[in-house]
Amino acid sequence: MGIILIGAWLIGAVLGKPGVFLFLGLLAYMLWHLHNLRRLEQWLRDGRTYQPPEASGIWSEVFYLLYGKRQRERAQKKRLAAMLSQFREATSAMPDATVVLGPGDEIQWFNDAARQLIKLHAGQDVGQRIDNLIRYPEFGNFLESGNESGYILIPAPKDPETTLSARVIPYGRDLRLLILRDVSQQQRLEQMRRDFVANVSHELRTPLTVVNGFLETMIDTDDECAREWSRSLLLMQQQASRMQHIVEDLLLLSRLETDSNRPPEKPVSMPALIATIYEDVEHLAAQKRQQISIDSESEAGLYGAERELHSAFANLVINAIRYTPEAGRIRIRWWADEQGAHYAVADTGIGIEAAHIPRLTERFYRVDVGRSRDSGGTGLGLAIVKHVLNRHEARLRIDSVPGRGSTFTCDFPLSRVSRT
Ligand code: ADP
Repeated sequence: MGIILIGAWLIGAVLGKPGVFLFLGLLAYMLWHLHNLRRLEQWLRDGRTYQPPEASGIWSEVFYLLYGKRQRERAQKKRLAAMLSQFREATSAMPDATVVLGPGDEIQWFNDAARQLIKLHAGQDVGQRIDNLIRYPEFGNFLESGNESGYILIPAPKDPETTLSARVIPYGRDLRLLILRDVSQQQRLEQMRRDFVANVSHELRTPLTVVNGFLETMIDTDDECAREWSRSLLLMQQQASRMQHIVEDLLLLSRLETDSNRPPEKPVSMPALIATIYEDVEHLAAQKRQQISIDSESEAGLYGAERELHSAFANLVINAIRYTPEAGRIRIRWWADEQGAHYAVADTGIGIEAAHIPRLTERFYRVDVGRSRDSGGTGLGLAIVKHVLNRHEARLRIDSVPGRGSTFTCDFPLSRVSRT
């Protein structure tokens, strides 16, 4: 600018009109700027021309800097587009339906599997609340509960034959990822296994009753042949009745598993139930000279199925008798507090190593198979206890010190406690 102005002034001075030439110089300089500004505006507006226009002076610098910025942005855009398309490809290849839910549980995005599994349509369903499209009260409650670690099984919308397992994972700001997986095949296999066990147990029941009946008659018969065989007959009867117990326990377990209805909500008097259990097991404890004490600290009862609760609570006491040596002590305790109500059976028995505790409620899991068999165990007792407690929304806690004894506690929630 300086050079132009000095040049214009000098020419003007030579020609005797410095002011006019200075003005003309300034005008030319402004026009040059305006011209370049227009070229810049055209270049920025026109997305097709990538290369900047030729320019000189400061404008060459401006074009060069803007060109560099544009190049960097373009490379970044390309990278992002590639990442996005990779992400889309990966989520499309995923067999699980994935749905991104916004803060109000409205659908923001979903993958191809969601289109097929839960029949979502890109046009009409984005922005809709997911619980308007998957209309199961349990699913709505599950979403509301914000349960991150659990899952829920629901029938697929418009296809009740398909079972889906649904999980919700929170991420980012108020966003949640809903993942749905088709578990129909596992469900069918599980159902087949349950039916098979139930059918086999059912089929074995009658022949075993007949065999047991005949064995009893033969043992009671007072003839010489029976007396000769008496030891073998007794052994046969022991084994037959063991099989009968296993079959009965398996049938009870499969009934508990297949009955998806909530147990009845009738109030069960706990002090009365504990007294009945005591009467049932008293003679077993007496045979081992064990002492059973009862601390019924609360008059509260439980809402539930009396037969199921009886079976679970009696199982815990029978186990305590079984795994406590002669002259040991067993304490049955029932109490209520602000968390709910609790039933506990504590013994001074052989105890359980910590490593076994998490697996005790599995079917046929026994710490010592021989000992369990000898004492008439089937290996199914604690599995039954766990099922009964699950059906009553209760939890089983096991505390044990090897060589000192064990305590099995059943914690019932307040909603199950009856105060009448
Ligand atoms: P079982 O018919 O063998 O008693 P359960 O399912 O009732 O089967 O128990 C599983 C295993 O847990 C038992 O075999 C035993 O090893 C262990 N157990 C259960 N109760 C007690 C207890 N009170 N003391 C020590 N061990 C126990």
